[in-house]
Amino acid sequence: MLQRNIETIEKAAFAFRGKDTILRKDGKPLTMNDLTVLRESTGGGEIWSEPETGITWLLAGNNPLPDEYTAEPVRLYACNYDMDEERYGQLFRAKGMASWTNDTRHCARCGARLEPHAELSALVCSECGKIVFPGIEPCVIVLVRKGDRMLLARHNQRNNDMYACIAGFMETGETAEQAVKRELMEETGIKVKNIQYFGTQSWPFPSQLMLAFTAEWESGEPQPQDGELADVGWFLPGECPNTPKPGSIAYRMIQSFQKQI
Ligand SMILES: [Zn+2]
Repeated sequence: MLQRNIETIEKAAFAFRGKDTILRKDGKPLTMNDLTVLRESTGGGEIWSEPETGITWLLAGNNPLPDEYTAEPVRLYACNYDMDEERYGQLFRAKGMASWTNDTRHCARCGARLEPHAELSALVCSECGKIVFPGIEPCVIVLVRKGDRMLLARHNQRNNDMYACIAGFMETGETAEQAVKRELMEETGIKVKNIQYFGTQSWPFPSQLMLAFTAEWESGEPQPQDGELADVGWFLPGECPNTPKPGSIAYRMIQSFQKQI
């Protein structure tokens, strides 16, 4: 079930703006009063809640925050604090739901207004009854090994201060393993073998599911291919430049590789 404009918070309330979460400067959890203040002061959207998970969320508007609040990137907030698994799950679910409820307003079939579904965590078309669930976009991310080195790349646009694993969206009709091979060839020009499943991570920026793999280098010298990468190369774990932070599956893969060699 999804609800709008409820009056009490069951478990946890979150406010977001872009990739940031909005926090009270005094460190206390957000209350319904905070959400109302933030909504009115920033020109935000509606306040939504999901009774099954007990989470409530607001997507704030772009007007300045009142003095009592501050904004911090969700991915840094998630890794900088000692957050238990339940809270981490609530934060990431709320982040994904906030983007989805903001971006999904009309039926793709008939164009009528979507409304919260009375039983499911979904929206339903007010005219034709089509039910719309939150979408998830699968992506692959891969750590490639060549002996005691690993392949890391720096992007031109996103996170351009960091060396990270190669990642990309899956295409329709593709297996995850095919996506791994295609992304590596398109972005770096190398071939890999022995692709092994590593794990998954929800990455709601806005709606990705990261499917993580390791692979072994087979052939080719890595070179930026398509203008997306600024630099790519082989790195020993000890000589890594700035790499992904704790809280990301890329971090876990790099840590796991370091322990193996
Ligand atoms: Zn419809």
